[in-house]
Amino acid sequence: MAKKQFKSESKRLLDLMINSIYTHKEIFLRELISNASDAIDKSYYKSLTDNGIEFNKDDFYIRITVNEDERILKISDTGIGMTREELDSNLGIIAKSGSLDFKENNEIKDGVDIIGQFGVGFYSAFMVAEKVTVISKPMGSSEAYKWVSTGADGYTITPCEKEEAGTDIIINVKQNTEDIDYDEFLDEYHIKSLVKKYSNFIKYPIKMMVKKR
Ligand code: ADP
Ligand code: MG
Repeated sequence: MAKKQFKSESKRLLDLMINSIYTHKEIFLRELISNASDAIDKSYYKSLTDNGIEFNKDDFYIRITVNEDERILKISDTGIGMTREELDSNLGIIAKSGSLDFKENNEIKDGVDIIGQFGVGFYSAFMVAEKVTVISKPMGSSEAYKWVSTGADGYTITPCEKEEAGTDIIINVKQNTEDIDYDEFLDEYHIKSLVKKYSNFIKYPIKMMVKKR
């Protein structure tokens, strides 16, 4: 399947993330957890307006899985999900251009908290990912789609299988470099402490299995 290109504004933000010298790369987790939580909020609102849908509190949660051997970190939610079109428009064009110039001019000079304060959303995953896969199935649909990107050279969207409605964000974590330790994002205990730090305002359960050691 042919690769689709990111819109130029998004591409700039993406390049910025991929090449980021930002030290608090961990904030990607905050962004992905908040997106998962937003997606569950949307299912909740949908259930209020749509009589066919029942909101059973126990069905809605965020799950984080670490697979150190395969260098995969996965953030799953049982939220509203995305259609093929939504994967294309929501992840292909990120409408944050207003603050983009600001970020571009400031991050490098004074990395500290431009990104931390404003958040950069979904693309922040590319600070730690060599590849991001998004598998999503909208609530009430029987079709699931997979969005895959290794960064600035575009993305593909193909049909796939997914049991339950919701979204999985699958991150293939980068290899360590001389300056940057990415392995910490594959350390369950570290991830767990980050989740704790960034889940203060999340009103849904965040499930995570941690191996004994
Ligand atoms: P924002 O959250 O500020 O809208 P993001 O860059 O974080 O911006 O996300 C872009 C869009 O992608 C969201 O608005 C949403 O429509 C979609 N999205 C991202 N993650 C999810 C998810 N887990 N479930 C459903 N939609 C999502
Ligand atoms: Mg967001």
